[in-house]
Amino acid sequence: MTERLYYSDCYLTQFEATTQSVSGEGLRVVLDRSAFYPTAGGQLFDTGTLGGARVVDVVDDGDVVTHVLATPIAAGMVRGEIDWARRFVFMQQHTGQHLLSAVFHELFGFATASVHLGEAGGTVELAAGAVSETQLREAEARANAVIVENRAVGIAFEENPEGLRKASERTGPLRIVSIAGLDKSACGGTHVKQTGEIGALLLRRAEKIRGNTRVEFVCGSMAVRRARMDFELLTAAGRAFSRPLEEVPAAVGALQEAAKDAQKIVKSLTLELAGYKGRALFAAAAGGRHWEKLDAVDDATRALAQAFVGCGKGVFLATGGGAVLVASSDPAVHCGNLLKQFGRGGGTAALAQGSVADIGPLAAALGI
Ligand SMILES: [Zn+2]
Repeated sequence: MTERLYYSDCYLTQFEATTQSVSGEGLRVVLDRSAFYPTAGGQLFDTGTLGGARVVDVVDDGDVVTHVLATPIAAGMVRGEIDWARRFVFMQQHTGQHLLSAVFHELFGFATASVHLGEAGGTVELAAGAVSETQLREAEARANAVIVENRAVGIAFEENPEGLRKASERTGPLRIVSIAGLDKSACGGTHVKQTGEIGALLLRRAEKIRGNTRVEFVCGSMAVRRARMDFELLTAAGRAFSRPLEEVPAAVGALQEAAKDAQKIVKSLTLELAGYKGRALFAAAAGGRHWEKLDAVDDATRALAQAFVGCGKGVFLATGGGAVLVASSDPAVHCGNLLKQFGRGGGTAALAQGSVADIGPLAAALGI
């Protein structure tokens, strides 16, 4: 059984221990005591060194904690040191999560269904079908007010704790993490001692999931990093528009409108151009027959074909990723039947669309 040193002291970064088992060719180590936090309860594992070897994973194996190393070590006394920078960021996130879950519960009665704490931020899944923008802002403001109040975050072991925000399924003495005057939760994770150490709590996206609402949040140095990244992205967007960043949303809106107008003009000019081109092709075509070979047939192709046959008795075939066959009142040509006969697709006597694998026989039948 591994004594989990972080249970009573989350600020312990160095420790000495004795190996209980060394397996996997010296890469999997179980100790009698450890300050390394294994991935559990939504919080990621600690990294650091053990006996000089790099710790690349820490696994919660029930009664024991297994340290996975990058290089092998021998059995015996070892010294462990955890990567404090990584751990402290996770402690900020984890305590921030308790605080956020507590304020959502306090303000709106929303329970937390699940929690995830990642490398770049965390999420809480609230048992709420919808969370409004106003509620998000209120929860964020309340959480940051409690951070400023610098309330104590305590750890205690209790046999039958009362007043838990969420009932625990575990039996026996429970490790209780409490935020003074606000929250009491059963939790085995690592937390800061005072809410002030969370630094700040920033809410980000909220999205519906399984009938609940998942809310993204970042705390402390992660929040600062994220805010800086957002600022730089927005500044880059502002630079691209030659506008201050406050005006970026309006500039994007104006650009979208301008693009929509331009698309309309392009479409109308394309169709107009197809008309001119169709008439020119008809004038140059022998016997009113023409075969247009394109990369792809589209609306402009159909407009071209219509303009062509609009000039008089004629047949227009366009091919390229498909086939369009258009004929003006010519009793000898039934476009739909011809396309069915020589390829796939169909249509009326005057217009047919589809595909033709081998154009040769169709072109020959049309006399093109
Ligand atoms: Zn916790």
